[in-house]
Amino acid sequence: MSFRKILQHCLYLSISVMILSACSEPAEPLVENAVESPTAIESAGHTEPPVGQLDNTVTPVHYNLDLRIDPSREIFSGKVAIDVMINEQVDSIWLHGKNLDVTGAYLTKGDSNRIEATYEQRLESGVALVSFSETVAAGAATLHFIYTAPFNTSSNALFKVVRGEESYAASQFESTGARQVFPGFDQPGFKVPFDLMVTTRTGDVVVTNTPEASSEELSDGFVRRTFDTTRPLPTYLLAFAVGPYDMVDFGMIPPNTIRDRAVALRGVTAKGLGSQMQYALENTEGILTKLEEYFGTPYPYKKLDLIAIPESFGGAMENPGAITYDEYLVLMDENSPLDQRRSYTYVHAHELAHQWFGDLVTPVWWNDIWLNEAFATWMGNKASDAFWAEGEFDRSSLKGALGAMDNDSLAAARQIREPVESTEAISDAFDGITYQKGGGVLAMLERYVGEENFQAGVRLHMERHADGTATAEDFMASLAEGSGRAELIPAFKSFIEQPGVPLVSASVNCDDGQNAILEVSQSRYAPLGSTIDPNSGEWEIPVCVSYDDNGTQKSTCAMLNERSKSIKLDSNTCPSGLHPNADGAGYYRFSLDESWWNGLIADVPDLPPADALVLADSMGAAFYAGKLPGKTYVTGLAALINHETWDVVAAAMSQLEQLTNMVEAGQLLVLEQAFRDMVQPRFVELAGKSGTGSEMLQQRMQRFLIVMAKDQGMRAPLALNAAARIGLNGDPDPSAVPVNELETVLSIGVQDLGEPFFDMLLEQAITSEDPAFRQAAMGALARVEEPALVAKLQAALLAGSFKGSDAVGMVFRQMVRVATTELTYAWIVDNDETVIEMVPEHFRSNIVPAFGGAFCSEDRADEWQNFIQSQAEKMPGYERTLAQTVESIQLCAAIKSAKADELVAAFKEYSSTL
Ligand SMILES: [Zn+2]
Repeated sequence: MSFRKILQHCLYLSISVMILSACSEPAEPLVENAVESPTAIESAGHTEPPVGQLDNTVTPVHYNLDLRIDPSREIFSGKVAIDVMINEQVDSIWLHGKNLDVTGAYLTKGDSNRIEATYEQRLESGVALVSFSETVAAGAATLHFIYTAPFNTSSNALFKVVRGEESYAASQFESTGARQVFPGFDQPGFKVPFDLMVTTRTGDVVVTNTPEASSEELSDGFVRRTFDTTRPLPTYLLAFAVGPYDMVDFGMIPPNTIRDRAVALRGVTAKGLGSQMQYALENTEGILTKLEEYFGTPYPYKKLDLIAIPESFGGAMENPGAITYDEYLVLMDENSPLDQRRSYTYVHAHELAHQWFGDLVTPVWWNDIWLNEAFATWMGNKASDAFWAEGEFDRSSLKGALGAMDNDSLAAARQIREPVESTEAISDAFDGITYQKGGGVLAMLERYVGEENFQAGVRLHMERHADGTATAEDFMASLAEGSGRAELIPAFKSFIEQPGVPLVSASVNCDDGQNAILEVSQSRYAPLGSTIDPNSGEWEIPVCVSYDDNGTQKSTCAMLNERSKSIKLDSNTCPSGLHPNADGAGYYRFSLDESWWNGLIADVPDLPPADALVLADSMGAAFYAGKLPGKTYVTGLAALINHETWDVVAAAMSQLEQLTNMVEAGQLLVLEQAFRDMVQPRFVELAGKSGTGSEMLQQRMQRFLIVMAKDQGMRAPLALNAAARIGLNGDPDPSAVPVNELETVLSIGVQDLGEPFFDMLLEQAITSEDPAFRQAAMGALARVEEPALVAKLQAALLAGSFKGSDAVGMVFRQMVRVATTELTYAWIVDNDETVIEMVPEHFRSNIVPAFGGAFCSEDRADEWQNFIQSQAEKMPGYERTLAQTVESIQLCAAIKSAKADELVAAFKEYSSTL
């Protein structure tokens, strides 16, 4: 799955992409490995329902699932027959089912022997007890259930979307939505073939994982469609889309050197939007081919459908042969905003990578879902880069990993591979640590063993486990064997089985006058005010260091597998410069003495982009740890703003933005002045430059200057363009604002043009069928500051005018902006139930507690904790996200009290010495 980025500094990847790292997440470490220690009860007693995994008393072999789905109604119905193997005699069994009204249940053995059964849901999480009228002997049998169920109303399970006059049904099963749609064995390790049938209104499109095999007109005016038997699948990967969708048949993706058969490609959208799918379809073959070349095996499924869900459910989902997307990710053309086309590329590549890693080879249990997501993140970035070389994807995994480090610096950080012992804990596993730290660790190991060796390991893994399941141990074994580098296993384990960011301290000893000795040591990074014991972790870290030997740039690498190490440098002189994470190859931060920091800052213009990115991160981390003076930090950020590469500059601006959170409102003017002084000259210099990097940088600098640095001179002319774009005084003029600048320019309209503009844009955001416009409009609306208009936005949210992740993104942005934090906080507390319901069910426990992440005082930390705890029952599994959010607030308060004045003085001095 891939989650859409909701906030700039809430890390994202693909929910099917990454949202929350800096917003924070998950809490207490669980003790046991759930895979090895199932929490299911013994089959004999059946006194306590299993809160985690089912045991293996009864295992599924094959499903016949027959659904009747009419999206104009509020309920759907189904019949399921599950062929099972009963491994020991039973009187009753546990399986999964949630909110199902079961009207018939029985078991058959062979043709004649029918045993009646009762079905009773016993846990809110969806665990049901099936009791038989007589003891059932071990052996093959078939379970039968007949039932009805309501459509889900929270973008989960099988849900209904009403748009205009039309109703659609769509699905999102990961993690545990399937149990709301049919009774079954809803955990990833049970991977079996499905025969699917859907009965629906004549004229409705029906899409599921496999091609349609046949259809039959029924006497009641409905049609029953039967689909090809699937390859073995876990329940969480089934998909359904039913309704008056547009179906775009794109023809066949032809065979290639890896694949000897063609694959049918189609696009599925809400009625009338099919033509907007062309770009996504046209570019699919190119990305798919890069993945086939990497894996060395063909795309595993018969057909491929890209489904644009008419409601923003939070990203994308890798259902085999039937991938679902938020509309923003697939409805576009070649003139759409660069950010949108880039999002499509890496999210699509991420979901396609899952067709092998996740779908063809599936985790045994949710404790290894990190490997799915880490792999798809890393592979998606790699395939995007191979497919679109000018698209600036080559540092994506590094930036993702750096983005996860703030979350990983918390005492409440989660380790990558975390036991999952209950259904409620599953959602914890979908966070920045899983996607981005995981992706970064894979990139580090690939670098360590070499690209080809790593690829050999991945291919071996696919070969061994195709159509089956595998654990992280299996993957490590494949990698070690395929690459011939068994020593990567302990390094791998040291990063996935403990939380935290390693801090590598580096210095050079030239005492003997001959050979320079590099001294490196490791500890766990801890920000100021943290309860982390710096000596609490120890890693096996592939460390690469570059240094200057009398004008020649050299580098050396070593495995740091003890607390400290001395490494002799191949140097004729004492180095004048030192970079302790050359090429950003390692998942660690570094610390230096102040003279070495100053040297690195002076070298910024010459640093390669990856080296500059890790410098930005480690320098910021040193400031937040209280180890770097404010003045040095400000000087360093100013140097990075002038780096040649767009994402280095963006990283520096993002750190500047973060600093506004830790000063008093009265001190903001000083920061805003310094921001303009730092950024304006570079922005002017960029004018007119083209190319992906330059365009992205111009767009980001413009937004920063207008929104963060409050550059009044830039606003007035753009406000006129905003008015023209939406047609405030006449017909809308789409050419009035370049697409890449749309959100920034509309934001000015929202803030400077008052109620008529706000009302008109709000109406257009609600009714527009152009996802790029809607995205920009929502971003702009969420920057509204005038209290009366804030109230209007809140009313629209409560009325359900924005749904799913769209609504979540707007609430986040209102919370994080100083001008609206308090108004939004009060509104959330007053409307707790509705606001919580607004958040899609499958990530409610990750999102709602993180809304408080913008606070920066001890009092607010306590208040927020009390508020969320008072809502606990509405979001089971909230504990870790709350612990991390509260800790982030406390850390912000600590740095504020220690460093805010020093920082403000440093910015003041910066502006005065220009
Ligand atoms: Zn994913």
